Amino acid sequence: MSIVIDKTKCVGCGKCVHICPGNVLRQDVQKKAYPEDPSDCWSCVSCMKECPVQAISILLPMEISAGGGRMKIRRDGNITAWEMEKTDGEKIVITTDTNEANKY
Ligand code: SF4
Ligand code: SF4
Repeated sequence: MSIVIDKTKCVGCGKCVHICPGNVLRQDVQKKAYPEDPSDCWSCVSCMKECPVQAISILLPMEISAGGGRMKIRRDGNITAWEMEKTDGEKIVITTDTNEANKY
């Protein structure tokens, strides 16, 4: 999987650059984020969780979404919404609560 950054949405906050454990991301002269070498990304999704405007999405592998698709992450307090959209338009949203991370 690899991430894709929508520069039209990016507000140049730099949060993704600072959180990336692989030092993959950079900012251009307009402060817009981009992956210097996408092959260095190991899809940990930390940058997606950190982005305040959902500018970063990840391409889903065929095992999850035949024919492609993308996922975005939206966070609101303890709740994380994992929003998947397949190429046929089908949308799937899974929510998790960090307060229940050790529940089971
Ligand atoms: S998914 Fe993880 S490794 Fe890849 S760019 Fe984002 S923070 Fe870095
Ligand atoms: S966290 Fe989002 S808005 Fe901020 S620099 Fe990265 S992509 Fe742009």
